[in-house]
Amino acid sequence: MANIDYLLSDINNINGIGSKTAKLLRRKNITTIFDLLWNLPRDFVDRTKTYKISELEIGKVQTFNVIVKKYNFPRIRNLPNKVLCEDETGKLDCIFFNSYEGYIRKILPLNQKVTINGKVNFYNKRYQVVNPTNISSDENSIKKVQSTYSLTDGLNEKKYQKIIQNVLEKLPNLDEWLSKDVLKKFNNISWKESILKLHDPKNFNAKGDFLNRLIFDEILSNFLISCNIRRKIKKIKKNKKKFSNDPYNSILKKINFNLTIDQQKAIEEINKDLKSDRKMFRLLQGDVGSGKTIVSLVASLNVIYSKFQVAFMAPTEILAKQHYNLAKKLFSDSIEINLLTGKTENKERKAILKNLLNGKVDLLIGTHSLFQEKINYKKLGLIIIDEQHKFGVNQRKKLSDKAGKNCDVLVMSATPIPRTMIMTIYGDMDTSIIKSKPKNRKEIKTYSKNDKNINDVINFVNKQIQLGNQIFWVCPLIEESKKIDHQSSIKRYESLKKIFRNNVGLLHGSLEKNEKDRILLDFLNKKINLIVSTTVIEVGIDFPNANVIVIENANKFGLSQLHQLRGRVGRGDKESYCILMFKTNLSENAKKRIKILKSSNDGFKISEEDMKLRGYGDLLGFKQSGLKNFRLADPIQNQDLFFLAEKEIKKIEDRNESLDKYFQLLKLYDRADILNDIV
Ligand code: ADP
Ligand code: MG
Repeated sequence: MANIDYLLSDINNINGIGSKTAKLLRRKNITTIFDLLWNLPRDFVDRTKTYKISELEIGKVQTFNVIVKKYNFPRIRNLPNKVLCEDETGKLDCIFFNSYEGYIRKILPLNQKVTINGKVNFYNKRYQVVNPTNISSDENSIKKVQSTYSLTDGLNEKKYQKIIQNVLEKLPNLDEWLSKDVLKKFNNISWKESILKLHDPKNFNAKGDFLNRLIFDEILSNFLISCNIRRKIKKIKKNKKKFSNDPYNSILKKINFNLTIDQQKAIEEINKDLKSDRKMFRLLQGDVGSGKTIVSLVASLNVIYSKFQVAFMAPTEILAKQHYNLAKKLFSDSIEINLLTGKTENKERKAILKNLLNGKVDLLIGTHSLFQEKINYKKLGLIIIDEQHKFGVNQRKKLSDKAGKNCDVLVMSATPIPRTMIMTIYGDMDTSIIKSKPKNRKEIKTYSKNDKNINDVINFVNKQIQLGNQIFWVCPLIEESKKIDHQSSIKRYESLKKIFRNNVGLLHGSLEKNEKDRILLDFLNKKINLIVSTTVIEVGIDFPNANVIVIENANKFGLSQLHQLRGRVGRGDKESYCILMFKTNLSENAKKRIKILKSSNDGFKISEEDMKLRGYGDLLGFKQSGLKNFRLADPIQNQDLFFLAEKEIKKIEDRNESLDKYFQLLKLYDRADILNDIV
């Protein structure tokens, strides 16, 4: 069997693993020999020091040499077998429950010297060890330092030791995949040697070249997959899009602000991609309120002018509607724009689908379901996906495939992510980043308030309403369950209605579309000043006149999510406020989060802090993204190695190096779903 196949073969193939043990290991997600290597030592035991019986300490696991003196086999159920042992300083009993006489006679032969390691107790005026498993007449086989592992119930340590030792002894050498330069940084340590060191009790909890190399392997394999997708997409040739500056200028005339430098740069980068003969696969990243929409609409208009259709997908209906309204406002009447959501009437839907096919519709705006549905376009040239941080690499690849050869892809994300994670999450795409916010933005003042002082908050809200300002009041989900999702918001709505009467609206997920639209329209037209809502307002909604957001039970939200919510306000030029409400007794962690939010309005910085507090796995949306958790690598601790891997990928790309050499690495690290079409 080739080395790699051996490593990836089922644990059943290991000597000493029967179907029962295999089942126990599978419970720990260990199915292959390779998996077994990543069940890391939990601790180690040192059995090298031997003690005289008189020196033994009660309650400790110790090693001692004794002579077997006398057996006592009571042959009565439930009574243990007993073996009396001694050395020149005292006596000790070995106690065996559920044991066989023959076995005991074999491991503890009468009048022989044996070495025993076990936990020492004191009972009936004598030292004793109960069911010791480490007994041998060969002193050296006991006097060892050994790694210990966390096990599932039913699997005993001794058995597991045998298995892992067996695997480590037979560990194959693999052809080196790291480049010479990189390998040098890890003192040329091979993969095999690194794994052996990882399990060596001498290195318990130690850091060093062996660990860094293994971490690097893991990061590199992850990046390489993305790199490969990128490469494949870059190979796709498409018809160049041809357009002048006219559409851009016509939009500029209709907005009452100047684009920021970063917005202009993003537009240039996108234009370059659109005009090239290679397919665009680009991420537009920018904090909430940084102005991504206008950039994507410029791109849309350019594509429409070059005689292609555009599909624009938003994550919610509310947002789709908002984009639709904006596009209507900015684009001249000669362009046909349609809105298609899950709630579009059947008759209208049929008409839209027909017009997409015959080319009458230039721009279709809808929810993400647009992508799932079978829609045929006459000449689709660009797909835009807004706020799509929950898409994983695989889904994006499918999207790009489905979009077809001539169709460019632009993904927008408002979730700033830590620098180290960009490659991990978006390595398959080119990226444009909008860092600077529009100039007129003021910092959002952030306060925290105890629930008890809710009247202060209500008074503040009242004053703001007097000034003609508008307020979001967010109530979190009480449980993940849909049913009670709305309870807190309905309750709050009812209590606020007593104070603000008809000036307050309620918004939550299960309202009828018409009802939702009516409330949002009322808010937009300033007929109502206050909206109580669940987190449906989280993504993207743009109401420049809203300047206060109150968030109840703020500790239920992660840092990034709070930042997103806060980003709903502060979009106009008014002084804006975010009030975080808490019940009493905040945890230390919650206090830290408030402090970070109060001190920064920078989404990228907040995401770094969030990752430090919560670990990268929990970071907003990552869990849903299909992103595999790393076994060893940690984007906080191993920042340097992430950057090193990024550099290495860049080199590989620049030299257009073949990925064949990494075949084993990729196969081992199991990103195989994509791998299938690499080789
Ligand atoms: P996001 O990046 O969160 O999607 P939007 O595109 O919704 O942000 O923009 C937020 C608000 O900022 C909108 O009201 C938009 O009209 C406005 N805006 C966008 N760009 C600028 C700019 N350069 N100067 C001033 N306001 C801007
Ligand atoms: Mg947006």
